[in-house]
Order: sequence, then C-alpha cells, then structure tokens
Amino acid sequence: MERTFLAIKPDGVQRGLVAEIIRRYETKGFTLVGLKFMKVSRELAEQHYDVHRERPFFPSLVDFITSGPVVAMVWEGDGVVASARKIIGATNPLTAEPGTIRGDFGISIGRNLIHGSDALETAQREIALWFKEEELVSWQPHLTPWLQ
Ligand code: ADP
Ligand code: MG
Repeated sequence: MERTFLAIKPDGVQRGLVAEIIRRYETKGFTLVGLKFMKVSRELAEQHYDVHRERPFFPSLVDFITSGPVVAMVWEGDGVVASARKIIGATNPLTAEPGTIRGDFGISIGRNLIHGSDALETAQREIALWFKEEELVSWQPHLTPWLQ
C-alpha cells in the first residue's frame, strides 16, 4: 500500500493548525500509520532538504524547520503521494488554490505550513529518514471489527 511522509512545520504548530491539517487527511479517507511531535535536529533537517543544499534559501530553511516543534506523519492509501500534495497546494501560498492548506492559511513561501513528499521514491526515503520501522502501525480501519 502506498505511503507518504507529511510534516506540519513550526509555523503550522505555532498557529494552532495541527488539528485542522490532520482533519483534512482523515476525512479524505487516508489512513494514519505514523505520528510524532518533535524538535528537528540540524542534521535531520539538512538530510531532509538535501536536494536544496545549493539553493540560496537553504540556510534559512534549515534554521526555520529546527526553530520549533513539528508534527511528523506517515499516511497510507491509494494514490496518497500525489493526492496529499494536491491537498497541500502550490509551494507559494500566494498562488496556491483556495481550498488547499497553503491556499487557505498562508501568504509566505518561507512559512508554508506543511511538507509533503513529492514522489513515491522521495516518500520512501523520507519515511525511512524520519521513522523507525517499529514506529509505524499497519492497520486497516475498514477491516477492523469494532468499526463494522
Ligand atoms: P515544496 O515544499 O512545495 O515541495 P520545494 O521542495 O521546492 O517546495 O521547497 C522546499 C521548501 O523550501 C518549501 O516548502 C519552502 O518552505 C522553501 N522554499 C522553496 N522555495 C523558496 C524560496 N524561493 N524562498 C524561500 N523558501 C523557499
Ligand atoms: Mg519539495
């Protein structure tokens, strides 16, 4: 089953948007398989954003992502990688469509609330970087007797 990595960035936590953001993936029908509230080390931040290492905004991006707590998550479901990115919206909140998380709640590219893996291979790399295998819970809500 397809999985993706999402992280509510420090601005999303600071602004009290944790429940609102999680709600969008829950009510869409995806399955939560991993969740932790944590401060990010510089080492993890630099590894996570390794592809952007040469970009001018890299130092400020790492400063920001390590500046406060984040909510790291793994979500599961058919097509979840691309769908989760659609729910997030474009990188720049000013051009992100209304109805998306960034379109509804942001105005600054450096404070765009949430990260989402951009492809299947990226998702696999990021899940392995952020979570240990035993921190992920495999379950199938629709097959669980107490919900039937
Ligand atoms: P996305 O998060 O939509 O996948 P990117 O992978 O291109 O976007 O960039 C990673 C993060 O770096 C963005 O979410 C944003 O926080 C930051 N970022 C990207 N471009 C800029 C920029 N021009 N100025 C400042 N921060 C940026
Ligand atoms: Mg990206």
